[in-house]
Amino acid sequence: MKNKFLLAFLLSMVVAIPANAQQSLDAMIDREIAQLVSTYKMLHAAPELSHHEEKTSAFLASQLRALGYTVTERVGKYDRPEWSGYGVVAVMKNGNGPTVLVRTDLDALPVEEKTGLPYASTVKTRNDTGQDVNVMHACGHDIHITNMIGTAKMLAQLKDQWRGTLVLIGQPAEETIDGAKAMLADGLYSRIPRPDYAIALHDNSDLEAGKVAYCPGYALASSTSVEITIRGLGGHGSKPEATRDPIVVAAQTILALQTIVSRENSPLDPAVVTVGSIHGGTKSNIIPDEVKLQLTVRAYKEEVRQHILASIERIARNISAAAGIPEDHAPIIKISDTEVTPATYNDPKLTERLAGAFEQTLGANNVVKWPPIMGSEDFGRFGLDHQIPICMFWLGAVDPAKVEASRKSGKPLPSLHSSLFEPLPEPTLRTGVKAMTTAVLELMRK
Ligand SMILES: [Zn+2]
Ligand SMILES: [Zn+2]
Repeated sequence: MKNKFLLAFLLSMVVAIPANAQQSLDAMIDREIAQLVSTYKMLHAAPELSHHEEKTSAFLASQLRALGYTVTERVGKYDRPEWSGYGVVAVMKNGNGPTVLVRTDLDALPVEEKTGLPYASTVKTRNDTGQDVNVMHACGHDIHITNMIGTAKMLAQLKDQWRGTLVLIGQPAEETIDGAKAMLADGLYSRIPRPDYAIALHDNSDLEAGKVAYCPGYALASSTSVEITIRGLGGHGSKPEATRDPIVVAAQTILALQTIVSRENSPLDPAVVTVGSIHGGTKSNIIPDEVKLQLTVRAYKEEVRQHILASIERIARNISAAAGIPEDHAPIIKISDTEVTPATYNDPKLTERLAGAFEQTLGANNVVKWPPIMGSEDFGRFGLDHQIPICMFWLGAVDPAKVEASRKSGKPLPSLHSSLFEPLPEPTLRTGVKAMTTAVLELMRK
């Protein structure tokens, strides 16, 4: 009888621990939230473009160093030697256990902010092609950086609750999808133990602050940029019989490219072919020598991507040939090796495990399943082609009243990359720090 009582008492202790830990996590975040919100506003007002994250990375590095992490800066090697890699790698070793990588991105976008917020960005700079542009954290990477600082602080204070090696990554150049590749090319996985798991979050412009969302399996598509130069034989606009008009060939090619997804691809395999740019000619009465097209190709499965790329080449070449353009003027098709990123495949087991942990700490109402999107991310690269289980989850960032109003009116909210995108800092950061700390503890708990 006595033993039974003791057992019940011990069991009640075991059940009580997570609740206490959760309470203390809330209390810990309470103590930090004002500082985190002001850090966020400071970062928001000082955005830097991809490949130029010098001050942002130095700030993140100094914050993590002050928290006791071992920090390496300037990790990242690009194909273009004039770009510096501003990757940050912060490591905290805490006994034997799994290695967990947590990633934030660092860069902002060439967007002129129009939110009218007191801490709105007024930054202007010159981009890599020499144009003067405004800069804005229009994708919320400033939320991600602040979130990492908050999470780093929680986990440094909660060292008695986890074990293993925690690796925090500040990744540059996400918007140009070459930053993760640059960090890996600079020997990231030989500088740190190869992670057992890699996790990240991204803010979401359709989801209420206070909530997180998860998507097991394919969550974001692969992205491949393709450039087609259609070469004709130019001449006078009044004398088409003496030319091979690349403008007409470009028009036929663009329409034919739309049949790849609609007629060649299984409707059960999502894919997109968008011609986003067409440039040719200088004057109404001149048939030009060439027309340039720029495309983006999105798909989940690698075999679908390969099929689309082969079809683009086949269609472009054969429409040119059908127009009588000689073989030595066949179109030049360039598949970018820099503007390319694999699909983000959230390991289903890991994702469901984290979703379960989020339900415990955030409440089941605040954890929702989210459909996959055709947007792209380069976070998937840290998974080394499905060798390391990864999970990127969504962090609600929008004022719940605005989400509600948008649902009622049917008027869409400003999306990521919009000049009007406006995360609600405090509840977003509270939830983000709580969720990411929970995720790490779930994977590394003692
Ligand atoms: Zn973005
Ligand atoms: Zn982003």
